[in-house]
Amino acid sequence: MTPEKDQRSEIRGQRTEDRDPRSAIENPNSEFRIPKSLISVVIPVYNEGQNLEEFIRRCLDACATLGNAYEIILVDDGSTDRSREIITHAAGGSPDRVIGIFLNRNYGQHAAVMAGFGESRGDIIVTLDADLQNPPEEIPRLIRKAEEGFDVVGSVRVPRHDSLFRRVASTMVNKAVQKSTGVQMHDYGCMLRAYRRHIVAAMLECNERSTFIPILANTFARNTTEIDVRHEERSSGDSRYGLWKLINLQFDLLTSMTTFPVRLLSVLGGIISVLGIGFGIFLFVMRLIYGPEWAAEGVFTLFAILFIFIGAQFLGLGLLGEYIGRIYHDVRARPRFFVERIVGRSDQEESS
Ligand code: UDP
Ligand code: MG
Repeated sequence: MTPEKDQRSEIRGQRTEDRDPRSAIENPNSEFRIPKSLISVVIPVYNEGQNLEEFIRRCLDACATLGNAYEIILVDDGSTDRSREIITHAAGGSPDRVIGIFLNRNYGQHAAVMAGFGESRGDIIVTLDADLQNPPEEIPRLIRKAEEGFDVVGSVRVPRHDSLFRRVASTMVNKAVQKSTGVQMHDYGCMLRAYRRHIVAAMLECNERSTFIPILANTFARNTTEIDVRHEERSSGDSRYGLWKLINLQFDLLTSMTTFPVRLLSVLGGIISVLGIGFGIFLFVMRLIYGPEWAAEGVFTLFAILFIFIGAQFLGLGLLGEYIGRIYHDVRARPRFFVERIVGRSDQEESS
C-alpha cells in the first residue's frame, strides 16, 4: 500500500478497518484482509433548513447499510436559514462521519460541491442534492456500480418530478451535450453521481472559476455508465435556481464544454460572404442580359456588396473569438493529462 493510499484509508487518525469491522472484506486469494473503499458523500446546501434533518438521517441510514467506512460532507453555501445550525449539530453528533463546511456567502451549487471535493478523502465520491429530490437510499447502488470499475457513474431520473419547462429545457441541453462531447449520458442535470478519486483529483486541478461538474468529470473519465434512479418532488420550498441562475448555469455548461459557438460565427460569416458574392455575380449576369433596369437600377447590387461586408465582419469576429477561445483554454489551465499509475519503476510501489 502506498503512503497516499494509507493516508486515505484513515479518517482523522483512525484506520478504515478499525472504525467498522464490516469495512474489511476477505480476499479469497490471500490471507490478507483488503479494506473496502472509503466513501465520501458531498452535498451542497443552500437554505434547506426544512429538509435537512430528515435528509441527514436518511443519508446516515443509507451509508450505514454500505459496509464501507464513509464521511458525509455537507457544504453550506451561505445559507441564511437554520441550515448551519443543523449541520453543526449533526457534525457534533457524529464527528468524522458528518463534516460541515461553511462558505462565507452563496457561491452556487457547483462551487460548493468543489469545496466539498477539496475536503473529501474517499476513494469513491458521491454527490447529491439536499432537497430530497435525489433519494439518499440510491447511494449504495451508485457505489456498487462504481466499484465495478467505472470512473463516473451518472444517473437518470425516472420518472422526473420537475416542471414541464425544466424537463423540456433539460432534454434539449442533454441532446446538445451528447452531440458535442460524444459521451452518451442522458441526464447531466442530475447531480446524484459517483466519481472515483482520480477523477475528483483531476477536477480539483482545474483552475476555472465557473464550472459544470458532470461535464468536467467526463473530460477525465475513461469509462462511464449510468443507472436509473428515483426522483421525488422537492420536499419543501421552491427550486433554489431562479430563471436568471438557470440561464447562468447553462452558460457555465456551454463554456465549460466547448468554444464551438465562436467558431459558428466564422462559419456564418463565410456563408453570408459567399452568398453575397454569388448574388453579385447573378446580378451582373442578369444585367448583361436584360439591361440596367433589371435589378432596380443597381439597388440590388448594393445589397450584394452589403452582404459581402457583413459576412466579412462576422468572419473577423469569429477569428477574434478563436484567439479569445485559445486564451480562455490557457487561462483555465486544465491539466493536459493525468497519469493514473506507473509500472515498472523499482522505486515506486504499485498503488492498486
Ligand atoms: N444549491 C446550492 N447553492 C445554490 C443553489 C442550490 O448549494 O446557489 C444546492 C441546493 O441546496 C440543493 C442543490 O444545490 O441541495 C440543488 O438545488 P435545487 O434543488 O434548488 O436545484 P434543482 O433541483 O431545481 O435543479
Ligand atoms: Mg432540487
